Amino acid sequence: MTQQFYKYIVVGAGLAGASAIEGIRERDPEGSILLLGAEKHPPYHRPPLSKGLWPKKGEDRSKLSDLFILNKDYFLTNKIHWKFATHAISLDREKKTLTDNFSNTYHYHKLLLTTGGTPRMLDIPGGNIPALSYFRTLDDFTKLFKEAQHGKNAVVVGGGLLGCELAEALTAKGLEVTMLFPEATLCAKIFPDEVGRSLLQRFRSRGIHICSEDRPVSFEQKDDHILTRTFSDRELLADIAVVAAGISPEDSLGKSAGLQASHGYDVNEFGQTSDPDIYAAGDCCNFPSATLSKRLRVEHWESAKEQGKQIGRNIAMPSSEALAQPLEKEPYTHLSAFSTNLGGISFEGVGDLDIHLETIAEWDIEYEKGILYFLSEGKIRGVISCNLPHKMAWARELIKTQTPLRYLGVSSSLESA
Ligand SMILES: Cc1cc2nc3c(=O)[nH]c(=O)nc-3n(C[C@H](O)[C@H](O)[C@H](O)COP(=O)(O)OP(=O)(O)OC[C@H]3O[C@@H](n4cnc5c(N)ncnc54)[C@H](O)[C@@H]3O)c2cc1C
Repeated sequence: MTQQFYKYIVVGAGLAGASAIEGIRERDPEGSILLLGAEKHPPYHRPPLSKGLWPKKGEDRSKLSDLFILNKDYFLTNKIHWKFATHAISLDREKKTLTDNFSNTYHYHKLLLTTGGTPRMLDIPGGNIPALSYFRTLDDFTKLFKEAQHGKNAVVVGGGLLGCELAEALTAKGLEVTMLFPEATLCAKIFPDEVGRSLLQRFRSRGIHICSEDRPVSFEQKDDHILTRTFSDRELLADIAVVAAGISPEDSLGKSAGLQASHGYDVNEFGQTSDPDIYAAGDCCNFPSATLSKRLRVEHWESAKEQGKQIGRNIAMPSSEALAQPLEKEPYTHLSAFSTNLGGISFEGVGDLDIHLETIAEWDIEYEKGILYFLSEGKIRGVISCNLPHKMAWARELIKTQTPLRYLGVSSSLESA
């Protein structure tokens, strides 16, 4: 049992945590930093876990070593203390201490929570049997990849972005895949009906079986197989069953210490929680977006990187001798984008992609190459590009300037860079 003082403690060794450390070090080269991470690995990128590490025909496989964000040399050179495979389990805001699962207590001056999210478990019989996979971490990838080496067929539960990526990844690995999801179309939370349906046809044409408008009601281990029973009385027996049913923001540590958290930690534009010495960034928080005039909680790689770095810079307080004048906090204003490739189409999206908004599409090739606009009162709030790369900077500008769609000539969007 140890007790130590750190100027900065970052809890959560994902992308937001790693970027925060870079942000702190930009402004304060000396202040002591501890990075606490529950996983046994140093911070790594998650997107390749469902993409580049499962190459499709003609693609090179990403290297596992390229996954890692900060290596041991960086930690040593920049004087970062780290503890992996270690959970922060309690927070005392009065004493400004944190305790881990080995009963070590750490004092902080500023605390940054970058605890990400945890896969939503299915609360149904068999929803927690060890053979069933939930997918978030490098260890989850290793388990699924190993199973896929020997498996012949798989059930993928969930028709969102991750479910689609996993279905394609397992198909590329040679497995016969069945997708099971409650919606009528794929990625129904962000794609309008006709785009989701067209994608669904593409998945079918690639040999993926689709069980839409249905959901699992139980899982059962049957020898080396998993039996998935569904609401519509289907019985799907497969070597592998993997669930991609979204994540819940991991805000339990701060919540139990009384931090305000409505769906993830509620932070202001500087990343500050309801406790002025505690900040949060990445998937675990929701923040005000001045551009969209609403609070956002985004699960984007780019957001974890940009917000993590910005909030790291905001908590940095170099020693007074090193400062000519106090450092200003800067608000986090970036509109992050995501990208994926599904059914042979690359998609990039930015802004308010709420399917309840009005959507208008401009197609160069129907459902294959074009732009989807998400509108409110005729003004552009969000954009998804399909097979049109490098549109996100342009799209951000349209959203920021609240451009009415009618000011863009039809097909001008398809031409402009
Ligand atoms: C398979 C996959 C593919 C993805 N693909 C894309 C993509 O293509 N494009 C895109 O924009 N986004 C993608 N995302 C989302 C993106 O990766 C996340 O938004 C991003 O990783 C979030 O980073 P984070 O640091 O906020 O959280 P996380 O990456 O979840 O990191 C949080 C870390 O905190 C740790 N932790 C939690 N609680 C504690 C505690 N009490 N003590 C210590 N440690 C703790 C967790 O174990 C975890 O390691 C993908 C995500 C996954 C899972």
